[in-house]
Amino acid sequence: MHVLDVGEMAQLFVKAFKLVAIFATACVVLEVIFPAYRYSFASYIRGARNWIIRIGCGTLIWHFYALGLKWLGVKPLVTINFGALLHSNNPIANTGFAVLSGVLVAIAGDFFYYWMHRAQHAVPFLWRLHATHHSIRELTAWNCNHHISEPFVYAAFVALPLALIHFESGVVPVAAMALITFQAHLSHSSTRFNLGPLRYLIGDNKFHRIHHSTEFHHRHKNYGFFTTVWDTIFRTAYWPKTNEWPEVGMRNQPEPLTVRDFIMFPFDQRRWRKAKAGSGTQGIKTGGLNAVERDGPIHSDRSSAI
Ligand SMILES: [Zn+2]
Ligand SMILES: [Zn+2]
Repeated sequence: MHVLDVGEMAQLFVKAFKLVAIFATACVVLEVIFPAYRYSFASYIRGARNWIIRIGCGTLIWHFYALGLKWLGVKPLVTINFGALLHSNNPIANTGFAVLSGVLVAIAGDFFYYWMHRAQHAVPFLWRLHATHHSIRELTAWNCNHHISEPFVYAAFVALPLALIHFESGVVPVAAMALITFQAHLSHSSTRFNLGPLRYLIGDNKFHRIHHSTEFHHRHKNYGFFTTVWDTIFRTAYWPKTNEWPEVGMRNQPEPLTVRDFIMFPFDQRRWRKAKAGSGTQGIKTGGLNAVERDGPIHSDRSSAI
């Protein structure tokens, strides 16, 4: 691996963007057929633009992360072998086991994600970076980006611990990756299509919508992403009612619309000062994040389709 192999990175970028485009667009089809809310067309364009920026930065960050692991000689401490499961003579059983193994890997990975996410809501600096994602008001399968710095946090809290566990099979990480990418888009999708009772195991859009909610009783809930089991175990799960589809975003923090605002969101002192001044309750903090920046109704210009 070269220090800066442009060709290799371009390939990685195209591969990652293809995956995003396929799953996000599949969810948009659901948003059109079974809409929960219809958001502006501009928000979809904005979402696609931000994905290009984020994947571009992510490709660079993950490239140097892989180089760093190699230079430091980080090796797995534990090996989990799924090989025996995946060598059945029956192709249907093989596929079933591949998906099952992918789900198991994703659930294990989500344990680290869950605690990273709680830290992002508890540590003020991490919250500023993460708030870029929470500021989105027109939340859809395309318009659901995190800040470009997210891979740094993810590398430290999730990828590094997972690098110490080796999964003995080529198919498992591929299946887990595909499931997690689909999940990322479905969880933000503004569609009435959801996973129903399967939600008690796998997170979906109804479950994750609560995490983005501006309503007081939804605060500090539903941190898990792929699975809901860690929220159940650590008592942060909130199970949405049949027609519960709350407003999302941050009350005094508008969604960044331009590229500059998207990149500078965490560091724009004027934006954060304005948010505090607008709240009128400066200094009230709950678990590291200013409660007034997230609570209360917001006024978006969406048109309801329910
Ligand atoms: Zn969050
Ligand atoms: Zn989210």
